[in-house]
Amino acid sequence: MIEDNVDQICKQLDQELIKRGLSRRDALKLAGVGAASFLLNPSQASAATKAVASSDIKAKIVIVGGGAAGCSIASLLVNKLNNPDVTVIEPNPQSVSYQPGQTLIAAGVWNPEDIVGESKDFLPSEAKWVKDSVVEFDPDHSKVVTANNGEIKYDFLIVATGLQLNYEKIEGLSRDIIGTNGISSVYFPEGAAKTWPLMQEFITSAKSGKKVEGVFSHPNTPIKCGGAPKKIMYLTHARLKEADARKNATLTFYPNGGKMFGVPEYHDAIVKQFEARDMKWHYKHNLVAVDIGKKMATFDHKYLVKGEWDADLEEFDMIPQVKQVDVPFDFLHVTPPMSAPDVVKASPLAWQRGSASKGGWVELHKETLQHTRYANVFGLGDVAGIPMGKTGGSVRKQYTVAAQNLIDVMEGKSPSAKYGGYTVCPLITGIGTVMLAEFDWSKKPTPSFPLDPTKERWIWWILKVYMLKPMYFYGMLKGRA
Ligand SMILES: Cc1cc2nc3c(=O)[nH]c(=O)nc-3n(C[C@H](O)[C@H](O)[C@H](O)COP(=O)(O)OP(=O)(O)OC[C@H]3O[C@@H](n4cnc5c(N)ncnc54)[C@H](O)[C@@H]3O)c2cc1C
Repeated sequence: MIEDNVDQICKQLDQELIKRGLSRRDALKLAGVGAASFLLNPSQASAATKAVASSDIKAKIVIVGGGAAGCSIASLLVNKLNNPDVTVIEPNPQSVSYQPGQTLIAAGVWNPEDIVGESKDFLPSEAKWVKDSVVEFDPDHSKVVTANNGEIKYDFLIVATGLQLNYEKIEGLSRDIIGTNGISSVYFPEGAAKTWPLMQEFITSAKSGKKVEGVFSHPNTPIKCGGAPKKIMYLTHARLKEADARKNATLTFYPNGGKMFGVPEYHDAIVKQFEARDMKWHYKHNLVAVDIGKKMATFDHKYLVKGEWDADLEEFDMIPQVKQVDVPFDFLHVTPPMSAPDVVKASPLAWQRGSASKGGWVELHKETLQHTRYANVFGLGDVAGIPMGKTGGSVRKQYTVAAQNLIDVMEGKSPSAKYGGYTVCPLITGIGTVMLAEFDWSKKPTPSFPLDPTKERWIWWILKVYMLKPMYFYGMLKGRA
């Protein structure tokens, strides 16, 4: 079944590559995606399974969340443990749907059904699936409480609940409003599907000669896929250009931060790309309210004013100020504030201090992914309280590390594997071009292949649109890439 599906996808990929005069082997080499080598030979096990040692040790493992992270680590553990006793608690029957595709749905490149993944097809049959939600974590008694199945005890716990989208923290907004009144958001599947018709209305309006305003926000919390708020803006630009309507639209990005990207090389490249496309931006703006009737977005704008002269430091004091700025829109793309799910946030597993405590992220050693206070608890994916790394690309590196370290601890050893902070953002810059921003905690580009990583390339588009999805479904979720 897996081999048949991969085969079908590979045929599609081959057709696309033939147009460019490339073989699949050459394309994979060019893309430098060693982990996708199973696309050359689907029956071959690959890197992830080899990275983790097998073990005869037996203990009860409970995984909370069966999305990208929970499913991948469950699959790897049932492969590596000779006597697996793994339970996955997950309420959503489509928990493994391919979220990175939501941006492509929002721009009319993919259809909503293209990203759907049925949990029953991907959660490993050797694990027990409890279709339920955890409503309380009790790590002091090594148990969780579920909504409908009572308490579940464990020897070892893996927290992989992903994160929570907090639209209602923006005054006047809720999930239901997304898709109406020109307000869009790619961050949940229905929102992404509703974004495409709204974008088309916006383009039609611009095409009719009306001057229109497109506004794109980026909140003041950590978010998953930090590139998505910009990707949707680039795609709106590309669709407007295709329709020969770009000149009538102003597109403006309002990020809370003071840069386009945390890695200077990618920041510089993005600024140039924005300038070349006449896309505008205003830093230090956080979306706090939306008036849907008036189509007005309100931002808190932070800035500094010059205060008194400090004779000791020989410079002026800079005094922080905040003012509210109203911005009219015809098309608004909202990236909501995000946090750990409330149940995690309220639990002893959450960070107790510092900025990570505000988001309620799970308190982990960033390299081993083991909890700092509960040695029998590990965490990974978007809920992990570690720097950066809220992407599927990070999960791909984290799940082998967490699995190996869990097995080490189960065997009474110290964790031996280390996560280096790798993450990847395939920044879609147009229909047909992507800048593949790979980096880690060093905040330096860490390209997998010796090509200038700050350049937009069609080969990364091929990677994004044709290769990453099969790699996710049939490599990562199956615990083998
Ligand atoms: C629009 C968009 C674009 C993206 N683009 C990219 C990209 O280009 N590249 C990339 O690498 N990544 C991208 N990502 C990010 C990527 O999808 C996530 O980082 C990844 O899915 C994280 O996996 P996870 O398992 O931590 O969370 P999820 O996949 O969200 O899974 C979490 C699971 O936990 C379950 N859960 C939650 N609470 C409970 C509970 N109380 N009890 C039981 N289960 C619970 C949920 O139902 C869910 O199924 C994108 C995401 C979005 C939304």
